[in-house]
Amino acid sequence: MTQLALVIDLNVCVGCHACVTSCKEWNTSGSAGPLCDENAYGQNPTGTFFNRVQTFEVGEFPNSETVHFPKSCLHCEDPPCVPVCPTGASYKRKEDGIVLVDYDKCIGCEYCTWACPYGAREIDEKQQVMKKCTLCVDRIYDQTLPERDRKPACVKACPTSARLFGDVHDPESVVSQAIREDGGYQLMPEWGTHPANHYLPRRKTKLKIHADELERADNPLKLDHQLPMPGKDESSMDDASAW
Ligand code: SF4
Ligand code: SF4
Repeated sequence: MTQLALVIDLNVCVGCHACVTSCKEWNTSGSAGPLCDENAYGQNPTGTFFNRVQTFEVGEFPNSETVHFPKSCLHCEDPPCVPVCPTGASYKRKEDGIVLVDYDKCIGCEYCTWACPYGAREIDEKQQVMKKCTLCVDRIYDQTLPERDRKPACVKACPTSARLFGDVHDPESVVSQAIREDGGYQLMPEWGTHPANHYLPRRKTKLKIHADELERADNPLKLDHQLPMPGKDESSMDDASAW
């Protein structure tokens, strides 16, 4: 049985949010949309996002590291969000393991939100239905797209190729190879949900910064030195300063 999933490499994610915005752009205009925004240009903007990147510091400055952690529905193999749904709106597809919500059956009771241990469900406050990552199910099978584009929007957009997509049940797939070779792991396996999405752990690199490295040698705000201007030699700069 096929189980489609994402594998996210935490070594190369730079927290640029390209996955967040491409997800929102594709899905708000696709079959899972619209994805509402509230107070989009105000002080506290909020809205429905299928994919979010959490950023936090590990360690103590200056010997700390910034970790970017993208998270969306993990398409669990035993999803607790499905059996709690009183209307059958939440379901897991047999053919590819994608967990979806049928908006026409959803009554917005949010039982699934309580059941999901990963905080992956997003209630649409305007439509009062539950929404979540669909693995771009309306894109990955679209025969009108070139084969190279039949991937989730987030995978296509990631500038560092931190996101891989494929069948975790196929041992030869790119995702299975990455999990096997780079120590891919599941989030909170103790919950017994068997998330299909995996993460590739950050490699442990010892980062030691010395005090004299904290100041930029080319600090443009520092006025006690002047860098040569491109295309000008030192003598012409002296001339310029005499103007
Ligand atoms: Fe359900 Fe949450 Fe698992 Fe997604 S991550 S399948 S919403 S339990
Ligand atoms: Fe089912 Fe919708 Fe209630 Fe979630 S919010 S449990 S999908 S009816």
